[in-house]
Amino acid sequence: MAPETPAIRKCMGSDCVQDAGALQCPTCLKLGIKDSYFCSQDCFRKNWATHKVLHKKGSFLTGLVTPKVVSEPDPDTGTYNPFPSYPYTGPLRPVYPLSPRREVPKSIRHPDYAEDGMPKSEMKLRGRNKIDILDKEGQEAMRKVCRLGREVLDIAAAACRPGVTTDYIDEIVHRACLERDSYPSPLNYSKFPKSVCTSPNEVICHGIPDQRVLVDGDILNIDVTLYHGGYHGDLNETYYVGDKAKADPDSVRVVEAARECLEQAIKLVKPGGLFREYGNVIEKHAKSKGCSVIKTYCGHGINTLFHCAPNIPHYAKNKAVGEAKEGMCFTIEPMVALGTHKDKTWEDDWTSVTQDGKITAQFEHTLLVTAGGVEVLTARLPTSPGGPEPMPEVKRLEEAVAS
Ligand SMILES: [Zn+2]
Ligand SMILES: [Zn+2]
Repeated sequence: MAPETPAIRKCMGSDCVQDAGALQCPTCLKLGIKDSYFCSQDCFRKNWATHKVLHKKGSFLTGLVTPKVVSEPDPDTGTYNPFPSYPYTGPLRPVYPLSPRREVPKSIRHPDYAEDGMPKSEMKLRGRNKIDILDKEGQEAMRKVCRLGREVLDIAAAACRPGVTTDYIDEIVHRACLERDSYPSPLNYSKFPKSVCTSPNEVICHGIPDQRVLVDGDILNIDVTLYHGGYHGDLNETYYVGDKAKADPDSVRVVEAARECLEQAIKLVKPGGLFREYGNVIEKHAKSKGCSVIKTYCGHGINTLFHCAPNIPHYAKNKAVGEAKEGMCFTIEPMVALGTHKDKTWEDDWTSVTQDGKITAQFEHTLLVTAGGVEVLTARLPTSPGGPEPMPEVKRLEEAVAS
């Protein structure tokens, strides 16, 4: 095993590929924003208009790089909570520092946002409702990237156990992507800092892998997306961490409800099926298990773009327009919560949590609409870790007593 290559400092200028010199933005220095290096005065001046946005309070980078108040690092581990005064909704806390940015070799095809974080080709199409129909070649490319995505998720899931950090899962996902000549799509997508989303317990989605150690009794969603051959493949599952989680009736209820919600929605996918129907079935099933459905985050079209039309809401009585047609690719990815459906975002501008701090689970597949119905491109393999768990015995006994 070779040690990781140390990151070379790059110029902050957008579109600038130079290594940075010793020149730092003086305003950033005053604000305590580290690593605002430029290659030259010229490049600094050219980029001023876009760069100065970072100086505004609450911008993504200021939030991430300069926590408002930094708590004292733990003397044993050197880790710290970057947002100690944030009103957290549940017991979970971020555990910083994040590991250094992981590199992707130039030989692997990068999406357009890899350098500057801006998904330019997606931004051009925002608000457009036209849905792409993939030809045979495009469909084959989607099959390939989704199969690779499944392999990577399964590798990550096999590593998901008490005692490992979510950053370790990120390292594993990153390496597994590179081994498959694939770019880990989340990396630098709208400046997301890591290669995979890891969302434990009360985190709904978009959790940033950090130094927190998984404990027996956690549940963890791992959301993997790969970019390969010019196409993205996106899937996620929620896993029980250790045996305690599998023995906890509430954990099993929310995780299995989310799993079944996705399965039931997929049954509706066929040419002519309305996008707005999926949410009705999902919410009905979630409610039957005493769970709620998150409304803020949707499924999405996916192909050469990570996120595009259509938008797939997961809640009932939604007003999504349109119907599935042969050759379309999109995800369904219901997020189901034990308590309120209402969400809130941490000061890292990514991590979405439930407002009551109760746990939440999610499952996602990338789907291809076929003449006869649907092909689940990210389907589980016989060897895939995880899978459904029965309700623990304890619960059944309680129910017996109650009835
Ligand atoms: Zn995903
Ligand atoms: Zn997705």
